[in-house]
Amino acid sequence: MQFENSLAFAQQLDASDPLKDYRNRFHHPKLNGLPATYFCGNSLGLEPKTAKEFVNQELDDWAEFAVEGHFHAKTPWFSYQDIFPEQLSKLVGALPKEVTVMNGLTVNLHLLMVSFYQPRGKRYKIICEAKAFPSDQYALESQVKHHGYEPEDAILEIAPRKGEDLIREEDILKAIEETGDELALVMFGGVNYYTGQVFDMKVITEASHNVGAQVGFDLAHGAGNIELKLHEWDVDFACWCSYKYLNSGPGNVSGMFVHERHCNNPELNRFAGWWGNDPDQRFKMQAGFVPAEGARGWQVSNVPVFGMAVHKSALDIHAEVGMEKLREKSLKLTGYLEFLLDDLNSKDVRIITPRDPEKRGCQISIYVDNDAKKLHQALLDAGVITDYREPNVIRLAPVPLYNSFEDVWTFVNILRQHLM
Ligand SMILES: *Cc1c(COP(=O)(O)O)cnc(C)c1O
Repeated sequence: MQFENSLAFAQQLDASDPLKDYRNRFHHPKLNGLPATYFCGNSLGLEPKTAKEFVNQELDDWAEFAVEGHFHAKTPWFSYQDIFPEQLSKLVGALPKEVTVMNGLTVNLHLLMVSFYQPRGKRYKIICEAKAFPSDQYALESQVKHHGYEPEDAILEIAPRKGEDLIREEDILKAIEETGDELALVMFGGVNYYTGQVFDMKVITEASHNVGAQVGFDLAHGAGNIELKLHEWDVDFACWCSYKYLNSGPGNVSGMFVHERHCNNPELNRFAGWWGNDPDQRFKMQAGFVPAEGARGWQVSNVPVFGMAVHKSALDIHAEVGMEKLREKSLKLTGYLEFLLDDLNSKDVRIITPRDPEKRGCQISIYVDNDAKKLHQALLDAGVITDYREPNVIRLAPVPLYNSFEDVWTFVNILRQHLM
C-alpha cells in the first residue's frame, strides 16, 4: 500500500478501517483534562467500558449469595476459571485444555519452571535472550540458585552482535546446538519487550527439542499482539499477562499454556494447591493430590473473581474481533507509523525494531540520539503518552484494537515539532 503523509490520508484510512468502532469500546485517558494520544498499550492496555458491569455483577452476587456464590453466582466461582479456555485458546493457538488463567505472570513463570526446569547431571543450563525483562531474569537466576547452580555458569544469554540492535536467530540456534546435552531449558520472550523483535518460536522449539531441552516462552508482549500457534509449534509451556495487549487492568491475572503432551503427566513435578485438584475431589478435603485434567491442574489457589471478571470483559471483545483481523490492521497501522517516522528524515531518531513486519508486532522502538527522557516528557506535555526506557529508547505501541491512523499521524506531527 502506498502511504501518504497527511492528516486527510490518515483519516481516510480510518474511515475504511473495519475495526474503527472498537475504539469506542474503551476508555481513553486524558492529560491535563484533554484527550491524550495513547501509545502505551504494550505496558497497560486500555479499560473496556464493560469492565465495570462485569465487576459489579460479582459484587452484587457476593452481596446476595455470600458463600453460596461459589455455586449460585451468575458465573459460579467454583468453576470460574473454566470460562476462559475456549476464548483464550484461540488467541494463543492452543487446545482449550492446554490453557488456564491464574496468579501473576512471574509467579506462573516460576510454577512452570518447577515443572519444566529439572536439571540433572550435566544437563542444567538455560538459554535466554540478553536484556530479557528484568522480572524474567530474576526468575531464571533464582530458579538456578534454588537448584544449587551459579547463574554465571548455568545461564547463557544470547545478545545482539556488537554494534547491532537485534538478536540474530542463527546465533540462538547455534548456541542451542553447541550447548547440546548440557541444555535443560530454553526460555525466551516470544516478543522482546525492549526492541519489539519477534522470535521464530517454531524453529527455536524444534532446535531445542533436537538436543533434548524443554522450551518455554514468556508471551507478555505476544498474547493479543501477534498470531501464535503454541500447540502446533510444539512449545512445552508458555505464560503471559492479561494487562498489556489483553486489556484486563493493572497487575491482573496471567494466562498459561502447557502442551497436551505434558498436561496429564502425573510424573511432572508441580507445586500443587487445592484448585488444581480434580474438581470432583476438591471439597472432599482429603490428602492426596489428584490433578485436574490439562493446564487447569496447575491452579493453586481459589479464583480472584474480581480480576477475573475484568479479564472476561476484555476477552469477550478480543474473541469478537479475533487475532486474524487484529493482526491485519496491526500490520497496516504499524507500517504507517514506520513510514511517517522514516519520512521525518531525522538523524536524531533511529528505529531499532525489525523492519520486516513478520519479525515484529505492533510496537516500534526508537533510539533517540539526544535526550530521550526529555523528549518523552515533551511529548507528554503535548498530550502523547509513550514509554521511555533507559538509556535512550522510546517505545511506541499503536494498538490496532483502539488506536487510529489519525493517532499515529498526530503523534509523528508532534514529534517532528520537538525534533526541530
Ligand atoms: C510485563 C512483563 C512482566 C511483568 O510480570 P508480572 O509478574 O506481571 O509483574 C514479566 N515479563 C515480561 C517479559 C513482561 O513483558
